[in-house]
This record gives sequence, C-alpha cells and structure tokens, in this order.
Amino acid sequence: MKLPGFIDSHLHMLGLGYYASLIDLSQAKSIKEVQDILRNNMPNNILIGRGWNQDQFQENRIITKHDLHKVSTEIPIVITRACGHVLVANDKMMEIAGIDISTRKVSGGDFSYTNGIFSEKALGLITDHLPKPTKNHLKKYFIKANQILLKNGITSIASDDFCVFDIPYNDIIEVLKELYKEDLIQVKITEQVNLPKSQFIDFLNNGYANKKINEKLKMGPLKILADGSLGGRTAYLSEPYADDKNNYGINTFSDKELFDLVHLADKNNIDVAIHTIGDQATQQAIDAIKKSLEITKRENHNHALVHAQLTRKDQILEMQKYNIGAIVQPIFINTDIKIVDKRLGERKNNAYLFKTMDEFLDLGFSTDAPVESVNPFYNLYSALTYKSIKYPNLPSLNKGQCFSVKQALKAYTVNNLKYIYLDKLDESDYIIIEEDIFSLEVERIKDIKVKQTIINGKIVYNQDKKTL
Ligand SMILES: [Zn+2]
Repeated sequence: MKLPGFIDSHLHMLGLGYYASLIDLSQAKSIKEVQDILRNNMPNNILIGRGWNQDQFQENRIITKHDLHKVSTEIPIVITRACGHVLVANDKMMEIAGIDISTRKVSGGDFSYTNGIFSEKALGLITDHLPKPTKNHLKKYFIKANQILLKNGITSIASDDFCVFDIPYNDIIEVLKELYKEDLIQVKITEQVNLPKSQFIDFLNNGYANKKINEKLKMGPLKILADGSLGGRTAYLSEPYADDKNNYGINTFSDKELFDLVHLADKNNIDVAIHTIGDQATQQAIDAIKKSLEITKRENHNHALVHAQLTRKDQILEMQKYNIGAIVQPIFINTDIKIVDKRLGERKNNAYLFKTMDEFLDLGFSTDAPVESVNPFYNLYSALTYKSIKYPNLPSLNKGQCFSVKQALKAYTVNNLKYIYLDKLDESDYIIIEEDIFSLEVERIKDIKVKQTIINGKIVYNQDKKTL
C-alpha cells in the first residue's frame, strides 16, 4: 500500500552517518563484551566506539577508564553511551586532551579524572580533541545517512547537525548545498540550529534566520539542550532520582541563561526546540518561553519541547496554554522500559504521557536517531504497544497511553508539518509497503519493510535494486 513519506521531526542526520562509521557497542551485554569488541577493532591511531548502555551489562555497573586500560593504555580510546550524553575516555585520551587530576569543573557538566567518565557540557573537554572530519568525511557521513533514511521511508526530517563536530556551521551548510547540487542526497532537511549563543548571534548577523537555502534545505528553530538523559541520570528532575537520593540531574543553563537564549531567538522570529527530559528542565523551558512570549507577543510561533519524557499533567496544560508543542520519541521506551522504575519510582506514571499530550498539544513523532533506531516501524510499534522490542518479555509500560495506527501515523506525518514549516503534505513524497498497515496484527508492524521511497515524484529507494 501507499503511505505518505514519514517526517521525522528530530534526529541527527550527520550523527547518524557518523555513528554508522564508528565501532558499534550497542549490542554488548557486558563490560567484557565491550572490551572484546574494542580489541577486535584495534586501529593504529584512535579508537572511537558508541552505543554502550550499562543497563544491559551483566556486571551491573557503569564502564570506567580502568576497563578501557585492559584494552589499551597506548592508544586513545573514547566510547560514548547510547544516549550521547555520557562518555568514557582512557588515560591516553585524557592526556591528549590535557586533562589531569587538577582540571577544573565545567558548569553544566560533570567529569571525573579518577574514572574517566564525562557528561553533558564536560563532553567537549574530550570531543574537542578528536580528529576533525575533512569535507570528504562530512560528505560521506551525510550520504550514508541519506541512504539509511530513504531505506526507512523517511522523506523529510528536522535535523540537528551543527554540534556533532567542532567545525563552523557554515561548513556544514556548504557541504549540504554541494551534496544537493550533485544529487547525492535527496531527503528534505529543516535544520534545527544547535549553536552556542555567540555563534547563533553570528548566524543571525549572516542573515540565516529561517532562511531557505534551496528547495530541500531550510534553517529552522534554535535547538537548545536544557538537560541530559534519564539513563545517564543527567535529566533534570524536580525531585531526586529514586535510585540516587542526592542527585537531581543536571540543568545545562540557569533560568536567566535559558531565558536569554530563548528570547534572542523569539524576538528574531525564530522558534525554539528545547531538549527537556526531566520535569524540572521542562518547567525551566516553559517558564522561559512564557516570559519571552509576554514580551514579543508572537502568536504563530512553533516553539516546542523535544523529548518531554517526564512531563506532568499540569505541565501539559501549561504547554497547551502557551501553544508549546512536543516532539516525542516513543522508541525511547525500547531502552528506557528497563530503567524508568529504578530512576523514577512512582513518578513513572507521569512519564511518556504522549497520548495525553496528543489530546492537548501539537505532538509529533521522531526518533532522535542515532540515539535510537531511525526505523519508523519500530517507533510506531512502541507508540502502539508501549512495549520494548529489545526486552519483549517486559509488560507494556502504560497501556492507557497506546496510540491507534491512525493516530500514530498522523503524529508521524501531518502533525510534524509545523516542525518542517509546511502547511500540507507533499503528495509527491510517499512510500510503498507490501502490507496493509491498518489490518496487520500489531506484532507484525515492527517488521514492515519499505519497498519504495519516492521524493518529488522520483524513486529514490527501491528495495529490489539495492543501489541506485
Ligand atoms: Zn537529539
């Protein structure tokens, strides 16, 4: 049957292509397995891995630099957690980055020289010292990501690409322009502009605000990260973690800093897309937007919270009042189902209230790939069942929040239009699947494969012809 092409309203296209080129640790069930995978992939310059998750480790603890030293003390090693908000570096890597026991704390982030674990804004202490990609690398990553997206039936995305590497945002725009010109990528991109304040000012000064670069590429909202992740215990909560009584998580900005950023965008007619996972980060974001709107009086804004994982009912109503949308990822249930209980205790009843949000707000689906799989049918399955594909034996996280197929498809297409700044679906962007998704039994929806993806009336992916 024919379906509209999927619109993914928050992912990291460059990150998706880059991740595909790194050592994959996402399947490791133990620290020992992480070590084995790294040993089997020894390069001669630097070892970069991604996707580990301590919640699936047999050892029941987080991995540290000491575990990496058993792999190598000579070659720098950096491995990033599945969420992308936490990494571990060995001594050699810290030496290259100039970090030792006396290195000062970073506000909005955390790190420990003793165990080599870095989170949030402290990630830069390490990532700024990784080899910088060349223009050809960037092109390779985008081309790879484009192939992955088309194979999955995704025709439009809102993508956060400026912060993956420490390179000027303009280089990324130039690379994308060239790729489109050479027809090496076809997916349509709305850039979620993730820049620190000074560079965002430069972006404004250069006339990039809401700019349409070409038919397929436009500049969208300012992307702001207000907190971290639940898994990494860096999501900012109003009450401490159930499994870490002194820890409220991390707020990346003070209230004033966050307001200043939001207001800078808002008064320039630019929307904000704010990453908030914990309820306290959500509150900070709502308050900042509310305060800014009182000054700018903008009516047709598309401000949104990205993730909104632990958002209380009272907050959903407040979001509705100020017309703040939600860009959510049902697929997060796939991994988080194992930890919500531990991290949140009773508060888990206020987590992932996506169906409730859908009743009150403009709610759109996305995957945050490469944090989770970009496969829309996995994401749909999560929304329809609130169950995990990874842990199929665990019961549904919240049966009352399950979407119908129709509601879920709407959240993945029509509802996302406002996040890519379109009024209606483009009929020349569609996909062909073999099954009838409306009559298929739910358990089989996750296995649906895309036969063809069509953009602007042209076949850009064909299952039968592996390469185009
Ligand atoms: Zn993201």
